[in-house]
Amino acid sequence: MTAAARIVVLPGDGIGPEVTDAARRVLDAAAVRAGLKLDYVVDLVGGASVDAHGVALRPQTLRLCKTADAILFGAVGGPKWDDAAPQSNLRPGSALLGLRKGLGLFANLRPVRVDPAMVATSALRPERVRDVDLLVVRELTGGLYFSKPKRRYETPRGQAAVDTMRYSTPEIERVAVRAFELARQRRRRLCSVDKANILETSRLWRIVVTAVAERYPDVATSHMLVDAFAMELLRRPQAFDVVLTENLFGDILTDEASMLAGALGMLPSASLGGGTLGLYEPIHGSAPDIAGKGIANPIGAILSAALLLRWSLNAETAAAAVEHAVSFVLASGLRTADIARDGEAPVGTAAIAEAVVSALG
Ligand code: NAD
Repeated sequence: MTAAARIVVLPGDGIGPEVTDAARRVLDAAAVRAGLKLDYVVDLVGGASVDAHGVALRPQTLRLCKTADAILFGAVGGPKWDDAAPQSNLRPGSALLGLRKGLGLFANLRPVRVDPAMVATSALRPERVRDVDLLVVRELTGGLYFSKPKRRYETPRGQAAVDTMRYSTPEIERVAVRAFELARQRRRRLCSVDKANILETSRLWRIVVTAVAERYPDVATSHMLVDAFAMELLRRPQAFDVVLTENLFGDILTDEASMLAGALGMLPSASLGGGTLGLYEPIHGSAPDIAGKGIANPIGAILSAALLLRWSLNAETAAAAVEHAVSFVLASGLRTADIARDGEAPVGTAAIAEAVVSALG
Protein backbone atom coordinates (compact mmCIF):
# COMPACT_ATOMS: atom_id res chain seq x y z
CA MET A 1 0.00 0.00 0.00
CA THR A 2 1.40 3.46 -0.92
CA ALA A 3 1.80 5.87 1.98
CA ALA A 4 -0.55 8.85 2.02
CA ALA A 5 0.98 12.18 0.95
CA ARG A 6 0.99 14.67 3.80
CA ILE A 7 -0.47 18.06 2.86
CA VAL A 8 -0.33 20.97 5.31
CA VAL A 9 -3.17 23.40 4.57
CA LEU A 10 -2.63 27.01 5.68
CA PRO A 11 -5.79 28.92 4.66
CA GLY A 12 -4.74 32.25 6.26
CA ASP A 13 -6.94 35.35 6.14
CA GLY A 14 -9.67 37.06 4.11
CA ILE A 15 -10.59 35.00 1.05
CA GLY A 16 -7.74 32.57 1.83
CA PRO A 17 -10.02 30.03 3.57
CA GLU A 18 -12.68 30.29 0.82
CA VAL A 19 -10.33 29.63 -2.11
CA THR A 20 -8.32 27.01 -0.20
CA ASP A 21 -11.52 25.12 0.56
CA ALA A 22 -12.40 25.14 -3.16
CA ALA A 23 -8.88 23.97 -4.09
CA ARG A 24 -9.02 21.18 -1.53
CA ARG A 25 -12.30 19.87 -2.92
CA VAL A 26 -10.77 19.69 -6.39
CA LEU A 27 -7.56 18.15 -5.04
CA ASP A 28 -9.60 15.45 -3.28
CA ALA A 29 -11.54 14.63 -6.43
CA ALA A 30 -8.35 14.50 -8.53
CA ALA A 31 -6.63 12.30 -5.93
CA VAL A 32 -9.50 9.79 -5.82
CA ARG A 33 -9.47 9.62 -9.62
CA ALA A 34 -5.68 9.03 -9.64
CA GLY A 35 -5.67 6.56 -6.74
CA LEU A 36 -3.61 8.91 -4.55
CA LYS A 37 -4.05 9.06 -0.79
CA LEU A 38 -3.82 12.48 0.85
CA ASP A 39 -3.56 13.27 4.56
CA TYR A 40 -4.38 16.86 5.49
CA VAL A 41 -3.25 18.85 8.51
CA VAL A 42 -4.76 22.33 8.81
CA ASP A 43 -3.09 25.14 10.77
CA LEU A 44 -3.42 28.88 11.33
CA VAL A 45 -1.09 31.36 9.70
CA GLY A 46 -0.93 35.14 9.19
CA GLY A 47 -3.44 37.39 10.92
CA ALA A 48 -5.49 34.38 12.08
CA SER A 49 -2.40 33.08 13.89
CA VAL A 50 -1.62 36.54 15.34
CA ASP A 51 -5.12 36.62 16.84
CA ALA A 52 -4.96 33.08 18.23
CA HIS A 53 -1.28 32.75 19.19
CA GLY A 54 0.28 36.24 19.09
CA VAL A 55 2.61 35.54 16.12
CA ALA A 56 2.04 35.22 12.36
CA LEU A 57 3.99 31.95 12.12
CA ARG A 58 4.54 29.65 15.09
CA PRO A 59 7.72 27.54 15.25
CA GLN A 60 5.54 24.41 15.47
CA THR A 61 3.76 25.40 12.23
CA LEU A 62 7.12 25.68 10.50
CA ARG A 63 8.15 22.27 11.93
CA LEU A 64 4.86 20.77 10.69
CA CYS A 65 5.59 22.12 7.20
CA LYS A 66 9.10 20.62 7.26
CA THR A 67 7.56 17.15 7.63
CA ALA A 68 5.04 17.67 4.82
CA ASP A 69 5.10 16.60 1.17
CA ALA A 70 3.47 19.89 0.19
CA ILE A 71 1.82 23.00 1.58
CA LEU A 72 -1.42 24.45 0.25
CA PHE A 73 -1.49 28.13 1.19
CA GLY A 74 -4.35 30.66 0.86
CA ALA A 75 -3.42 34.30 1.53
CA VAL A 76 -2.52 36.42 4.53
CA GLY A 77 -3.10 40.00 5.66
CA GLY A 78 -5.83 42.57 6.14
CA PRO A 79 -6.52 46.02 7.59
CA LYS A 80 -6.88 44.62 11.12
CA TRP A 81 -3.14 43.87 11.29
CA ASP A 82 -1.82 46.75 9.11
CA ASP A 83 -0.46 48.76 12.02
CA ALA A 84 2.02 46.14 13.24
CA ALA A 85 5.62 47.32 13.02
CA PRO A 86 7.39 46.52 9.74
CA GLN A 87 9.68 43.47 10.04
CA SER A 88 7.80 42.28 13.15
CA ASN A 89 6.35 38.79 13.49
CA LEU A 90 2.97 40.44 14.14
CA ARG A 91 2.72 41.30 10.44
CA PRO A 92 0.81 38.59 8.57
CA GLY A 93 3.19 38.81 5.60
CA SER A 94 6.12 37.84 7.85
CA ALA A 95 4.63 34.31 7.91
CA LEU A 96 5.27 33.89 4.19
CA LEU A 97 8.83 35.21 4.43
CA GLY A 98 9.42 32.90 7.43
CA LEU A 99 8.07 29.87 5.54
CA ARG A 100 10.14 30.62 2.41
CA LYS A 101 13.32 31.16 4.40
CA GLY A 102 12.67 28.36 6.93
CA LEU A 103 11.88 25.78 4.24
CA GLY A 104 14.62 26.94 1.84
CA LEU A 105 12.08 27.69 -0.91
CA PHE A 106 14.39 29.70 -3.14
CA ALA A 107 12.50 29.47 -6.45
CA ASN A 108 9.08 30.96 -7.07
CA LEU A 109 7.41 29.59 -10.18
CA ARG A 110 4.53 31.40 -11.82
CA PRO A 111 3.10 29.88 -14.96
CA VAL A 112 1.19 32.42 -17.04
CA ARG A 113 -1.07 30.71 -19.54
CA VAL A 114 -3.90 32.57 -21.18
CA ASP A 115 -6.82 30.19 -21.42
CA PRO A 116 -8.51 30.41 -24.86
CA ALA A 117 -11.82 31.22 -23.11
CA MET A 118 -10.15 34.18 -21.36
CA VAL A 119 -8.54 35.84 -24.37
CA ALA A 120 -11.31 38.44 -24.57
CA THR A 121 -11.07 39.24 -20.84
CA SER A 122 -7.39 40.22 -20.94
CA ALA A 123 -6.41 43.87 -20.62
CA LEU A 124 -4.50 43.43 -23.89
CA ARG A 125 -5.77 42.93 -27.43
CA PRO A 126 -6.64 39.29 -28.28
CA GLU A 127 -3.83 38.93 -30.85
CA ARG A 128 -1.31 39.97 -28.19
CA VAL A 129 -2.34 37.34 -25.62
CA ARG A 130 -3.56 34.38 -27.66
CA ASP A 131 -1.32 31.31 -27.06
CA VAL A 132 0.70 32.97 -24.27
CA ASP A 133 2.30 30.19 -22.21
CA LEU A 134 5.26 31.27 -20.15
CA LEU A 135 6.79 30.36 -16.81
CA VAL A 136 8.49 32.97 -14.65
CA VAL A 137 11.11 31.59 -12.26
CA ARG A 138 11.85 34.20 -9.61
CA GLU A 139 14.64 33.95 -7.04
CA LEU A 140 12.84 34.13 -3.71
CA THR A 141 15.14 34.22 -0.70
CA GLY A 142 17.92 36.65 -1.63
CA GLY A 143 18.45 40.09 -3.11
CA LEU A 144 16.95 43.36 -1.95
CA TYR A 145 14.24 41.82 0.24
CA PHE A 146 16.59 39.90 2.53
CA SER A 147 20.13 41.34 2.37
CA LYS A 148 21.56 43.38 5.24
CA PRO A 149 22.01 46.22 6.08
CA LYS A 150 18.36 47.17 5.84
CA ARG A 151 17.36 50.05 8.04
CA ARG A 152 16.11 53.59 8.49
CA TYR A 153 18.25 56.02 10.51
CA GLU A 154 18.57 59.66 11.58
CA THR A 155 21.03 62.08 9.97
CA PRO A 156 21.61 65.81 10.66
CA ARG A 157 19.53 66.51 7.54
CA GLY A 158 16.59 64.21 8.40
CA GLN A 159 15.98 60.51 7.99
CA ALA A 160 17.81 58.28 5.53
CA ALA A 161 17.21 54.63 4.66
CA VAL A 162 19.18 51.80 3.15
CA ASP A 163 18.30 48.46 1.56
CA THR A 164 20.95 46.11 0.24
CA MET A 165 20.95 43.91 -2.83
CA ARG A 166 23.38 41.05 -2.42
CA TYR A 167 23.69 37.81 -4.37
CA SER A 168 26.25 35.04 -4.20
CA THR A 169 27.24 32.56 -6.92
CA PRO A 170 25.57 29.53 -5.20
CA GLU A 171 22.31 31.47 -4.72
CA ILE A 172 22.16 32.33 -8.42
CA GLU A 173 23.36 28.93 -9.57
CA ARG A 174 20.71 26.88 -7.72
CA VAL A 175 17.77 28.89 -9.04
CA ALA A 176 19.28 28.92 -12.54
CA VAL A 177 19.60 25.12 -12.49
CA ARG A 178 15.92 24.84 -11.48
CA ALA A 179 14.93 27.13 -14.35
CA PHE A 180 17.02 25.26 -16.96
CA GLU A 181 15.61 21.92 -15.78
CA LEU A 182 12.08 23.31 -16.19
CA ALA A 183 12.96 24.70 -19.64
CA ARG A 184 13.92 21.15 -20.65
CA GLN A 185 10.40 19.99 -19.78
CA ARG A 186 8.90 22.80 -21.88
CA ARG A 187 9.90 24.47 -25.17
CA ARG A 188 13.61 24.64 -24.28
CA ARG A 189 13.94 28.42 -24.33
CA LEU A 190 15.14 30.48 -21.40
CA CYS A 191 15.41 34.27 -21.09
CA SER A 192 17.37 35.58 -18.10
CA VAL A 193 16.35 39.09 -17.03
CA ASP A 194 18.76 41.43 -15.23
CA LYS A 195 20.10 44.99 -15.14
CA ALA A 196 23.70 44.16 -16.01
CA ASN A 197 24.36 47.60 -17.53
CA ILE A 198 24.04 49.18 -14.05
CA LEU A 199 24.00 46.68 -11.18
CA GLU A 200 26.99 44.67 -9.96
CA THR A 201 24.65 41.93 -8.68
CA SER A 202 23.22 41.68 -12.21
CA ARG A 203 26.70 41.39 -13.74
CA LEU A 204 27.38 38.43 -11.43
CA TRP A 205 23.90 37.07 -12.24
CA ARG A 206 24.70 37.13 -15.97
CA ILE A 207 28.11 35.47 -15.51
CA VAL A 208 26.63 32.64 -13.41
CA VAL A 209 23.61 32.08 -15.68
CA THR A 210 25.91 32.00 -18.73
CA ALA A 211 28.08 29.36 -17.02
CA VAL A 212 25.02 27.24 -16.09
CA ALA A 213 23.71 27.59 -19.68
CA GLU A 214 26.83 25.79 -20.94
CA ARG A 215 25.56 22.67 -19.10
CA TYR A 216 22.26 22.93 -21.04
CA PRO A 217 23.30 23.27 -24.70
CA ASP A 218 19.85 22.00 -25.74
CA VAL A 219 18.19 25.09 -24.17
CA ALA A 220 18.31 28.32 -26.23
CA THR A 221 19.40 30.98 -23.72
CA SER A 222 19.09 34.75 -24.02
CA HIS A 223 19.66 37.70 -21.69
CA MET A 224 17.55 40.83 -21.52
CA LEU A 225 17.66 44.02 -19.46
CA VAL A 226 14.69 44.32 -17.13
CA ASP A 227 13.39 47.60 -18.61
CA ALA A 228 13.41 46.19 -22.14
CA PHE A 229 11.83 42.96 -20.91
CA ALA A 230 8.99 44.83 -19.16
CA MET A 231 8.14 46.30 -22.57
CA GLU A 232 8.57 43.08 -24.57
CA LEU A 233 6.32 41.21 -22.11
CA LEU A 234 3.42 43.34 -23.33
CA ARG A 235 4.55 43.65 -26.96
CA ARG A 236 5.25 39.98 -27.75
CA PRO A 237 4.52 37.77 -24.72
CA GLN A 238 4.19 34.69 -26.97
CA ALA A 239 7.95 34.87 -27.62
CA PHE A 240 8.82 33.76 -24.08
CA ASP A 241 8.99 30.28 -22.55
CA VAL A 242 10.94 30.22 -19.25
CA VAL A 243 11.88 33.62 -17.78
CA LEU A 244 14.51 33.59 -15.03
CA THR A 245 15.02 36.61 -12.81
CA GLU A 246 16.00 37.84 -9.34
CA ASN A 247 13.67 38.63 -6.43
CA LEU A 248 12.69 42.30 -6.90
CA PHE A 249 12.43 42.19 -10.70
CA GLY A 250 10.44 38.96 -10.45
CA ASP A 251 8.00 40.44 -7.96
CA ILE A 252 7.15 43.30 -10.31
CA LEU A 253 7.27 41.39 -13.60
CA THR A 254 5.01 38.56 -12.37
CA ASP A 255 2.27 41.04 -11.43
CA GLU A 256 2.64 42.62 -14.86
CA ALA A 257 2.46 39.15 -16.45
CA SER A 258 -0.70 38.32 -14.49
CA MET A 259 -2.55 41.01 -16.41
CA LEU A 260 -2.06 39.00 -19.60
CA ALA A 261 -4.27 36.30 -18.09
CA GLY A 262 -7.12 38.70 -17.36
CA ALA A 263 -7.34 38.84 -13.58
CA LEU A 264 -5.34 38.36 -10.40
CA GLY A 265 -7.64 35.56 -9.23
CA MET A 266 -6.68 33.31 -12.17
CA LEU A 267 -3.01 32.64 -11.53
CA PRO A 268 -1.31 29.94 -9.45
CA SER A 269 2.20 29.82 -8.05
CA ALA A 270 4.63 27.37 -6.52
CA SER A 271 7.62 27.98 -4.30
CA LEU A 272 10.23 25.23 -4.43
CA GLY A 273 13.66 24.49 -3.01
CA GLY A 274 16.14 21.83 -4.02
CA GLY A 275 13.77 18.87 -3.41
CA THR A 276 10.10 18.15 -3.99
CA LEU A 277 8.64 19.98 -0.96
CA GLY A 278 6.73 22.99 -2.26
CA LEU A 279 4.37 25.72 -1.11
CA TYR A 280 1.48 26.31 -3.47
CA GLU A 281 -0.64 29.45 -3.42
CA PRO A 282 -2.67 31.67 -5.73
CA ILE A 283 -0.81 34.89 -6.54
CA HIS A 284 -3.53 37.16 -5.17
CA GLY A 285 -3.77 38.54 -1.63
CA SER A 286 -6.49 38.16 0.99
CA ALA A 287 -8.90 40.55 -0.80
CA PRO A 288 -10.54 41.91 2.40
CA ASP A 289 -13.02 43.89 0.25
CA ILE A 290 -14.79 40.69 -0.86
CA ALA A 291 -13.91 38.29 1.99
CA GLY A 292 -16.75 36.24 3.47
CA LYS A 293 -19.10 36.84 0.53
CA GLY A 294 -18.46 33.57 -1.29
CA ILE A 295 -17.68 35.38 -4.55
CA ALA A 296 -13.87 35.05 -4.74
CA ASN A 297 -12.42 33.49 -7.87
CA PRO A 298 -10.92 30.14 -6.76
CA ILE A 299 -9.20 29.31 -10.09
CA GLY A 300 -5.74 30.54 -9.00
CA ALA A 301 -6.00 28.32 -5.90
CA ILE A 302 -7.34 25.35 -7.89
CA LEU A 303 -4.53 25.66 -10.46
CA SER A 304 -2.07 25.86 -7.52
CA ALA A 305 -3.41 22.47 -6.41
CA ALA A 306 -2.65 21.20 -9.93
CA LEU A 307 0.95 22.42 -9.57
CA LEU A 308 1.13 20.64 -6.19
CA LEU A 309 0.12 17.39 -7.89
CA ARG A 310 2.72 17.95 -10.63
CA TRP A 311 5.76 19.16 -8.72
CA SER A 312 5.43 17.70 -5.21
CA LEU A 313 3.44 14.49 -5.78
CA ASN A 314 4.82 13.68 -9.24
CA ALA A 315 1.23 13.11 -10.45
CA GLU A 316 1.40 14.68 -13.92
CA THR A 317 -1.76 13.02 -15.24
CA ALA A 318 -3.82 14.23 -12.28
CA ALA A 319 -2.33 17.76 -12.61
CA ALA A 320 -3.17 17.94 -16.31
CA ALA A 321 -6.69 16.61 -15.60
CA VAL A 322 -7.32 19.49 -13.16
CA GLU A 323 -6.02 22.03 -15.70
CA HIS A 324 -8.25 20.58 -18.43
CA ALA A 325 -11.24 20.60 -16.08
CA VAL A 326 -10.66 24.32 -15.36
CA SER A 327 -10.43 25.06 -19.10
CA PHE A 328 -13.63 23.11 -19.66
CA VAL A 329 -15.47 25.11 -16.99
CA LEU A 330 -14.24 28.42 -18.43
CA ALA A 331 -15.23 27.35 -21.94
CA SER A 332 -18.70 26.50 -20.61
CA GLY A 333 -19.05 30.19 -19.70
CA LEU A 334 -19.06 29.91 -15.89
CA ARG A 335 -17.47 33.05 -14.41
CA THR A 336 -16.97 34.61 -10.98
CA ALA A 337 -17.68 38.35 -10.76
CA ASP A 338 -14.06 39.44 -11.34
CA ILE A 339 -13.93 37.82 -14.80
CA ALA A 340 -17.59 38.07 -15.88
CA ARG A 341 -18.16 40.35 -18.83
CA ASP A 342 -21.17 42.61 -19.43
CA GLY A 343 -24.34 40.55 -19.61
CA GLU A 344 -22.79 37.46 -17.96
CA ALA A 345 -24.37 36.46 -14.62
CA PRO A 346 -21.55 35.63 -12.18
CA VAL A 347 -21.50 32.52 -9.99
CA GLY A 348 -19.86 32.04 -6.58
CA THR A 349 -16.66 30.35 -5.41
CA ALA A 350 -18.35 27.06 -4.48
CA ALA A 351 -20.15 26.78 -7.84
CA ILE A 352 -16.83 26.99 -9.72
CA ALA A 353 -15.30 24.33 -7.45
CA GLU A 354 -18.32 22.04 -7.97
CA ALA A 355 -18.17 22.54 -11.73
CA VAL A 356 -14.44 21.67 -11.82
CA VAL A 357 -15.06 18.57 -9.67
CA SER A 358 -17.82 17.40 -11.98
CA ALA A 359 -15.71 18.15 -15.09
CA LEU A 360 -13.01 15.93 -13.54
CA GLY A 361 -15.51 13.13 -13.08
P1 NAD B 1 -5.40 41.56 -3.26
O1 NAD B 1 -4.78 40.64 -4.23
O2 NAD B 1 -5.88 40.98 -1.98
O3 NAD B 1 -6.65 42.30 -3.95
C1 NAD B 1 -6.53 43.21 -5.04
C2 NAD B 1 -7.88 43.33 -5.75
O4 NAD B 1 -8.13 42.13 -6.46
C3 NAD B 1 -9.06 43.50 -4.78
O5 NAD B 1 -10.02 44.34 -5.38
C4 NAD B 1 -9.62 42.10 -4.64
O6 NAD B 1 -11.00 42.05 -4.35
C5 NAD B 1 -9.32 41.50 -6.01
N1 NAD B 1 -9.07 40.06 -5.91
C6 NAD B 1 -7.93 39.47 -5.45
N2 NAD B 1 -8.06 38.14 -5.50
C7 NAD B 1 -9.28 37.88 -5.99
C8 NAD B 1 -10.00 36.68 -6.25
N3 NAD B 1 -9.47 35.47 -6.04
N4 NAD B 1 -11.26 36.80 -6.75
C9 NAD B 1 -11.81 38.00 -6.98
N5 NAD B 1 -11.18 39.16 -6.77
C10 NAD B 1 -9.93 39.10 -6.26
O7 NAD B 1 -4.33 42.70 -2.98
P2 NAD B 1 -4.40 43.92 -1.94
O8 NAD B 1 -5.80 44.46 -1.86
O9 NAD B 1 -3.30 44.81 -2.32
O10 NAD B 1 -4.02 43.29 -0.54
C11 NAD B 1 -4.98 42.85 0.43
C12 NAD B 1 -4.23 42.17 1.56
O11 NAD B 1 -3.59 40.97 1.04
C13 NAD B 1 -3.09 43.01 2.16
O12 NAD B 1 -3.10 42.82 3.55
C14 NAD B 1 -1.84 42.45 1.52
O13 NAD B 1 -0.72 42.62 2.33
C15 NAD B 1 -2.20 40.99 1.40
N6 NAD B 1 -1.46 40.25 0.36
C16 NAD B 1 -1.16 38.96 0.67
C17 NAD B 1 -0.51 38.19 -0.28
C18 NAD B 1 -0.23 36.75 0.07
O14 NAD B 1 -0.71 36.25 1.06
N7 NAD B 1 0.56 36.04 -0.73
C19 NAD B 1 -0.20 38.70 -1.53
C20 NAD B 1 -0.57 40.02 -1.82
C21 NAD B 1 -1.21 40.78 -0.87
